[in-house]
Amino acid sequence: MSRYYISEKLRNQVASRADFLCEYCLISEEDTFLGFQIDHIISIKHGGATEVDNLAYTCTFCNRNKGSDLGSISQ
Ligand SMILES: [Zn+2]
Repeated sequence: MSRYYISEKLRNQVASRADFLCEYCLISEEDTFLGFQIDHIISIKHGGATEVDNLAYTCTFCNRNKGSDLGSISQ
C-alpha cells in the first residue's frame, strides 16, 4: 500500500463532506459521466498528507486542469 492509497472509507468521507459536488466548480457528480476523483489539496510532493482535511472531491476536469502544483501558494 503506497502513500497515495485512498481507502474507500476516506473517499466516502470526502465525498459526503463535499455533498457529492466538485469542491472546485460545484458540479454534481450526477451531472458528469466520468466519475469523480480525490485530489490532494497540497500535493504529496509538497508534503501534503492523505487525510480528510487535505483532500478535495473533484470532477475529472478540475483535477486534470489543476495538475499537481498549487499556483497560488508558494512554499
Ligand atoms: Zn470541477
